[in-house]
Amino acid sequence: PAPWAGAGVGAGARTRDGHEVRVLGNISTAEETSRALGAGADGIGLFRTEMLFLHRSAPPGEDEQVQAYGRVLREAAGRPVTLRLLDVGGDKPLAYLPLLPEANPFLGRRGVRWYADQVDLVRTQLRAALRASAHGPLRLMIPMVAEVEELRWVRALMEEVRASLAAEGLNPPDVPLGIMVEVPAAALNLEALGREADFLSVGTNDLVQYLFAADRGDVGVTKASHEWHPATLRLLAHIAQGARAVGKPVSICGEMASRPKLLPLLLGLGFDDLSVAPSAVAAVRTALAPLDLEACLDLTRRALRAATAAEVEGLLDEALRPGV
Ligand code: PEP
Ligand code: MG
Repeated sequence: PAPWAGAGVGAGARTRDGHEVRVLGNISTAEETSRALGAGADGIGLFRTEMLFLHRSAPPGEDEQVQAYGRVLREAAGRPVTLRLLDVGGDKPLAYLPLLPEANPFLGRRGVRWYADQVDLVRTQLRAALRASAHGPLRLMIPMVAEVEELRWVRALMEEVRASLAAEGLNPPDVPLGIMVEVPAAALNLEALGREADFLSVGTNDLVQYLFAADRGDVGVTKASHEWHPATLRLLAHIAQGARAVGKPVSICGEMASRPKLLPLLLGLGFDDLSVAPSAVAAVRTALAPLDLEACLDLTRRALRAATAAEVEGLLDEALRPGV
């Protein structure tokens, strides 16, 4: 598994029957790295870089970003770090970005959608990330991708940045470029995207929100059970199959992966890389230990045929009963 290779990579967690699962950490600041690793994370599966850009009047400069990204990589000490390129706009406005007011921010200019209007900001982040990649195995991930052209656009910009760094005498190592799968259109065009992306990571928080047309922050319309609804499971199965078909690694970095109860389904669907909040790392590792892959596959096959989330819940409860 080349994107994860490197000295000091964690051993992963194992199910009872020896199936290896990597449990990585989600962080929003460089300071959280030690918390995730201290809890037993095999690396950083999602570094949300937004925090560095929010609540200030001007964006962080290139050197400040190199410091922050370099710190995470140094602390990870050879374990893989996946840095997500800026995911703002929509509900996370930046004071220094002249974004127009939008009636539906979650359906508006979020993530990759405004990069073309803010090329300098994105270029600076790419320069900082490539410079920091000298400190360890780094991967870059694009948020809110819906179409292949968006991935191509970022890759072209990354190559331009790499060439300009090379002209300055810096020769950054090759950095895999992947995408978040969090828009249903991307999930349903997975193989085309997967052929061009170096890796995929499923953002279930947004994917479920867009699948159910239910604002993730509005408890009046969003139900926790949307995560294990058969519609969600079928979309996840499609993603896992598509990634396998094109031979690309796929992980889950949405909150869904943090729920021990849902692990049998994620394993049964074929997800072996999970990225969770630092506070959930230990519980997820513990919950993996008694699982048996064959049983997870069987449970998932039945869950995929269910009609309601309640039926899936029934199957999960039954599987958890001692002696079953
Ligand atoms: C997601 O959408 O599942 C995700 C991991 O990204 P965020 O929660 O930052 O939108
Ligand atoms: Mg998201």
